[in-house]
Amino acid sequence: MIDFRKTIRLYHDYVMPSYKKIPVVMERGRNLRLTDAEGREYLDFFSGFAVSAAGHCHKRVVEAIKRQAERLIHVPNTYYHEGQARLAEKIIRHAFPGKVFFGNSGAEAVEGAIKLARRWGSPDRFEIIAMANSFHGRTMGALSATGQPKFHEGVGPLLPGFVHVPLNDLEAVERAVTPRTVAVMLELIQGEGGVHAASSTYVKHLRELCSARNLLLIFDEIQTGMGRTGKMFCFKHYGVEPDIMTLAKALGGGFPIGALVGNAKVADLFQPGTHASTFGGSPLACAAALAVFEALEKEGLVQNAFIAGSYLERKLGELKRNFDCVKETRGMGLLRGIELDRSAQDVIDSCLEQGLIVNVTQDRVVRMAPPLTVQEKDIDLAMGILNEALKKHERNSKETVESHGNKETAR
Ligand SMILES: *Cc1c(COP(=O)(O)O)cnc(C)c1O
Repeated sequence: MIDFRKTIRLYHDYVMPSYKKIPVVMERGRNLRLTDAEGREYLDFFSGFAVSAAGHCHKRVVEAIKRQAERLIHVPNTYYHEGQARLAEKIIRHAFPGKVFFGNSGAEAVEGAIKLARRWGSPDRFEIIAMANSFHGRTMGALSATGQPKFHEGVGPLLPGFVHVPLNDLEAVERAVTPRTVAVMLELIQGEGGVHAASSTYVKHLRELCSARNLLLIFDEIQTGMGRTGKMFCFKHYGVEPDIMTLAKALGGGFPIGALVGNAKVADLFQPGTHASTFGGSPLACAAALAVFEALEKEGLVQNAFIAGSYLERKLGELKRNFDCVKETRGMGLLRGIELDRSAQDVIDSCLEQGLIVNVTQDRVVRMAPPLTVQEKDIDLAMGILNEALKKHERNSKETVESHGNKETAR
């Protein structure tokens, strides 16, 4: 039996305090359920930032990792191994003709995309037009691409060569293009930014603009990829292909792996010596990712994301009609945001108290990203809990002056 108080104390003493912590020590997971060190069960409607798309500890993923761990965990990228070959083929078959580079995280995939675009534009062009309110990761390049000043505080100077324009404003992009511009980069749904989708006409026009002006179009599908929105990749909803796409989060079912996909224009620009990653695309990581694809394909999880996502959308519509505090509901498939009239922290806290895990982003937006295995009955259960939490939220708004952020009452 783990002493959860000791775990929290050790964190306090020895782990850098970079995360706002929820005072729960997690111990086990199975599909949509997480169990903490005190034996409490939670219904997970967030999948750890959209990572556990096939559910926690999916049997295929667990078995694949076990099997591979007994044969070969790591070989350097100076050798071939079957898993990386098969995974690259699998990604390309689902995405678009091109080639893949493997790293270990989302930020590393974004760094790769920035380097690839710069190599393509070299020597004259290097500027990337990115979106205000975007999120691309925490390493210096990805951070510089991120269009949220709050993430930039105290770590400057940033990498030069990025400009930010508002999402869904084509004219702003046109105005931002200079002779140095090499690419336009965006998330089709800004997840961290509050679940805001790019409009269909905007994305179509962006594609035309990029093709006409000889710019690369980069989609960051780190959060939207791997079936999350009801199609394998979100760009399939738009009928528009990027030149470069980044993947991570759900790709390895929780095992760290990131990937950068480039079409024929850029597929051969990373020649030996120009880019590398020691752990990127290791046998173990690739085995996990292949098992995730297998789960998505053989168990119809992408279709389920579409069907369950439509059901969730309908339920969120009801929520909006029933509660004045719900200003808007947004998203696609199983990536959903519920914008409230004020801070949503108390809603997140009371959901957790009742055993439901959801997330808050941009202070007022409740974000949901359940595993793609979610069923109607799970959604009904979650909606019941959310209903109660919103009732309390409305009561609190009436009775008290703001008292959000009291983490001690979270459990
Ligand atoms: C999470 C995320 C990243 C960063 O991924 P890490 O694995 O945390 O480095 C980049 N882009 C998007 C859209 C993300 O959601």
